[in-house]
Amino acid sequence: MVASHPMSEISAIRDAILDGAPGDDLATLALPDSYRAAVVRADEQEMFAGVPSEEKDPRKSLHIDDVPRPELAPDEALVAVMASSVNFNTVWTSIFEPVPTFAFLQRLGRESVWGARHDQPFHVVGSDAAGVVLRVGSAVRSWKPGDAVTVHCNHVDDQDPSAHDDSMLATNQRIWGYETNYGGLGELTVVKANQLMPKPAHLTWEEAGVSALTNSTSYRMLVSPNGARMTQGQTVLIWGASGGIGAYACQYVLNGGGTPVAVVSSPERAELVRSMGVEHVIDRAEEGYRFWKDDQTQDPAEWRRLGKRIRELAGTDPDIVFEHPGRSTMGASVFVCTRGGTIVTCAATTGFMIEYDNRYLWMNQKTLKGCHFANYREAWEANRLIAEGRVHPVMSAAFPFDQVAEAVLQVHHNQHEGKLGVLVLAPEEGLGVTDPERRDLHLDQINRFRHPAAEKGA
Ligand code: NDP
Repeated sequence: MVASHPMSEISAIRDAILDGAPGDDLATLALPDSYRAAVVRADEQEMFAGVPSEEKDPRKSLHIDDVPRPELAPDEALVAVMASSVNFNTVWTSIFEPVPTFAFLQRLGRESVWGARHDQPFHVVGSDAAGVVLRVGSAVRSWKPGDAVTVHCNHVDDQDPSAHDDSMLATNQRIWGYETNYGGLGELTVVKANQLMPKPAHLTWEEAGVSALTNSTSYRMLVSPNGARMTQGQTVLIWGASGGIGAYACQYVLNGGGTPVAVVSSPERAELVRSMGVEHVIDRAEEGYRFWKDDQTQDPAEWRRLGKRIRELAGTDPDIVFEHPGRSTMGASVFVCTRGGTIVTCAATTGFMIEYDNRYLWMNQKTLKGCHFANYREAWEANRLIAEGRVHPVMSAAFPFDQVAEAVLQVHHNQHEGKLGVLVLAPEEGLGVTDPERRDLHLDQINRFRHPAAEKGA
């Protein structure tokens, strides 16, 4: 038998999907032995030693390589990735901070025979995908070849008892494409069947591929009982309100009858969040907050200035602070939160060694709540809200696959708005819509984030 070239097999898969081939046909198409994927390489993980974070350039560390297609475990699905997105975790992987991710893969590799597939000298990154199921393992019941799907990134071993209350509390919970290999920034991806969700029919591939990670995270942080559980009429301070998680947070607060106070860093971003219906906006750059006098010393007067500004705008202190910048803002976040309120945090973009004045926390009975991604139920609900047109994707630009490192650099340098999509097998933007009527209903909201990034030439 003559081995065919992987490119021709991938092209045949892509063409069949674009032609709307039925699942039975997709199931019979030959699979390539290898495929193209965005990877970091284990032998380069020291390449940025001594380089300041800001200067670490993902264009040097992130490559598009051919990687071998792994065998499919019984509880897994092989998905042809039409589009994916850049999340901040891909920034972390590609600058090897706070730690290189290969140790995660080695640990997974020691767990089981199937886990061993992940321990490789390359790491395929990416924690979002929209695409089409090509194959399912023998234990998969709910999905079949031909299903259009989005993928959430909670990778859980369901034979572990600790995974059966809230799976985000499972001892072996991992983020697919960050703590596992074979992530979403590849022509193919291997995922557990319980990561699959139906693709919202009114969205293009690239719009459908940007939401699962950030939208689900914001849902858990604000809506779920596992997060801050926002109730109607509450005021929520949202840092980075035009960013990936922030722009979904704004939508959840507005949908839930709350009052968002959005913090951004430019007039354009202020305009974007206003266009979503947010009334109270703070441009932190224009107002010049300096919460740190120097690297070691915070300035409580600046916390007070922020608190005063929030009261001026919203008439009250925030019941919830949606926190993720970390070291730069946590002192202010704990201070401005109302008595009995909640600071819910999922990240520390500017540094994870946090300092705040604990007197404000304990004396005023505030709660500092850690939150991480979302369980399957939460991700499913967040996806359903998108599918029903109640929450909208916040994609500002879609990059061709071979420019993925450029997109990662933009996220690293805070130059993007909302989410950056990546076209993987989708040859162009605008494909994949199967419910044009619903799309027409929501076109303005879907396009809201597109214009500014397009003008920048992204
Ligand atoms: P983005 O880069 O899209 O947005 C982050 C926003 O933070 C920016 O838009 C910026 O807004 C704001 N920001 C940056 N620096 C500062 C600062 N010094 N002070 C105040 N605000 C600042 O990232 P995402 O929204 O996608 O993710 C945010 C963080 O959350 C990342 O660290 C990411 O890794 C993490 N995360 C964690 C998840 C989890 O499950 N634990 C899931 C998803 C994300 P502006 O400059 O306009 O103020």
